[in-house]
Amino acid sequence: MEDLSKLKDLSELETEAKEVLDIINDQILEEDDPTLVKCESSSIGDGCGQALEITDLVYIQTHYYVPPNDSEEGDYWSAGEGRFICSSCGCINRLYNRPSIEGRKKLFKSVKNEYKA
Ligand SMILES: [Zn+2]
Repeated sequence: MEDLSKLKDLSELETEAKEVLDIINDQILEEDDPTLVKCESSSIGDGCGQALEITDLVYIQTHYYVPPNDSEEGDYWSAGEGRFICSSCGCINRLYNRPSIEGRKKLFKSVKNEYKA
């Protein structure tokens, strides 16, 4: 019985180690390989977790409309968050909390501006 419980501990340790490795691998992917970005879940939808070639993706720069008010010189457009659409699952990835990807905007295949009133 004692040996069996040790085996169980080992398999639990292995599972835990794999989970930690997965997290580390994700971090290495995002930080050290500037050519890859990962499709992640966001408030818009669930990402598939695929690592995508940044040069295949279109960077979507959103702009939002700021209406005129008393203290401003009329209305204007302001740059909002960046986004990209996963080429694997079609999920929209929001980049407002992923500055490492926003910082690589120039590596994307192209930049598409989207204006939303
Ligand atoms: Zn995806």
